[in-house]
Order: sequence, then C-alpha cells, then structure tokens
Amino acid sequence: MSAAEFSGLTAVVTGGASGIGAAIAALLQERGASVGVLDLNAEGLPAGQFGVRCDVSDDASVRAAVSAVAEHFGGLDIVINNAGIGAQGTIEDNSDEEWHRVWDINVLGMVRVSRAALPWLRKSSAAAIVNTCSIAATAGLPQRALYGASKGAVLSLTLSMAADHLREGIRVNCVNPGTADTPWVGRLLDSATDPQAERAALEARQPHGRLVSAQEVAAAVAYLASPLAGSTSGTSLAVDGGMQGLRLRPI
Ligand code: NAD
Repeated sequence: MSAAEFSGLTAVVTGGASGIGAAIAALLQERGASVGVLDLNAEGLPAGQFGVRCDVSDDASVRAAVSAVAEHFGGLDIVINNAGIGAQGTIEDNSDEEWHRVWDINVLGMVRVSRAALPWLRKSSAAAIVNTCSIAATAGLPQRALYGASKGAVLSLTLSMAADHLREGIRVNCVNPGTADTPWVGRLLDSATDPQAERAALEARQPHGRLVSAQEVAAAVAYLASPLAGSTSGTSLAVDGGMQGLRLRPI
C-alpha cells in the first residue's frame, strides 16, 4: 500500500484521544489523510493533530464538531465511529439510566456523527464509514448484557447503513476487535487485586495467547476506510486472534 493512500482525503475519528481511536488517527494521518479527532478529551492530543472537543451523546456538539472538521479541511470523506464506553454485569446489575447512557454513546453516538457527516460524504468520491464494533456483538459473553447488546446494535446498524447508502457511493463496514490492550482494559486490570496476575490470566484466555494491539485494529480500520476497499461494504472484520472465525470462546 502506498504511504499516500489517503492523500487528499479527510477523516473524522471519534474517541481518537485514547487507545484504538488514537492508533487509528495516527495511522490514517501517517498514510496521508487529514484527520480531525472528536473526543471528550480532545485538548490532550499530540501536537500536529486537529482535535475538536465533542460529546457524541450530544447532537448539537456532534454537528458543530463535524462541521468544524469539514470546514477546516474543505470536505469530509471518512468517518470512523469509534467512541464507546463499557459496561459489565447481567441485566439485573445495570439500571435503566445505565442502559440509556451506554446506548446514547455506543449506538446513537454513531448515528449522530454519521448523520451529521452524510451531506459531506455525498460530495466525496471515496466515502467510507467504519464503526468500531466488538466480538461482544455476537459472542454471547457473560457479564456483558448491556455492552454486548449495544455492540449487537452497532453490527445491525452497520448493515442497514451499508444497504441504505450503497447506491450513494458510501461504504459502511465495521471491525470487531477482541480484547485489546488499551487504557480502557488497563483501567479494568488496575481495579483487580493483583493486576499483573489478572493480565496474565486475560492473555491466557485469548485464542492466540495475548491481547490484540490497538495498531492491529487500526490497520483493519484503515483497510476498510481505504479506497482500496472500494468493493467492500456491509462487512465486519474480526481482529480477535481467530475467536470469531474459529468459533472459539474466551475461557
Ligand atoms: P478508551 O477508553 O481507551 O478510549 C475511548 C475514547 O473515547 C476516549 O478517548 C474517550 O474520551 C472517548 N469517549 C468516551 N465517551 C465519549 C463521548 N461521549 N464522546 C466522545 N468521546 C468519548 O477505549 P478503547 O479500548 O480504545 O475503545 C475504543 C472502542 O473500541 C470502543 O468503541 C470500544 O467499545 C471498542 N472495543 C474495545 C475493545 C477493547 O478490548 N479495548 C474491544 C472491542 C471493542
């Protein structure tokens, strides 16, 4: 692939200040894209990145941020819907308020950003949307009723959007990461009594004996966002050490 694969293209990456989103923003920029990072914490981005503070659960904030990026760079071609939050527990553990909160960010956040971007994407000849989904969408993970349901909705949303916008030349795909080594997972491990032992146990539960790296997810996202994937829409690409494809379980 050419280093300038994304030359002349502009992307927004939500949740791009940390973990998987930060790896995606860095990779797209390295491959020639102009990148706007939309994040609650956009202030702390590395020098040279264009960040806009944005809360994907607030429609006015999303519309202002998407316009700011498109106007700054003179257009918008690629949307990476990556911002998301976790939730643990069974349906008895999460309140209605928690369900609404996670849904608002993980599902509606992607709807809001995509909706605000569509008028710009329709003007692009290389329009693509990539949603960060999860193995939790289809794996039936224990203690992930709310999170898994939100990612199941992301998978379904990806398919419907792919169908709705195919003839407009806008491709919509998603990636399904397995457990990835990001600050999010770091925070979960840090809350354990013995974080090091917990990390070793978590690694051992993965099919390939280690966590997925944020860079591996970013590479998959970059492929799906690239004009080289111009014939690919409605696909979910697993980056999970073989879990989904081989029908394995994280046990
Ligand atoms: P992370 O917590 O390291 O980063 C998430 C980023 O999203 C942060 O910068 C945060 O500020 C931002 N964010 C959160 N709420 C926001 C909001 N309302 N508006 C704007 N920005 C907001 O997390 P990560 O591990 O990099 O996860 C990124 C995505 O990958 C999420 O959608 C997550 O569900 C998905 N995912 C993660 C894993 C994993 O194991 N880490 C596995 C599968 C899928």
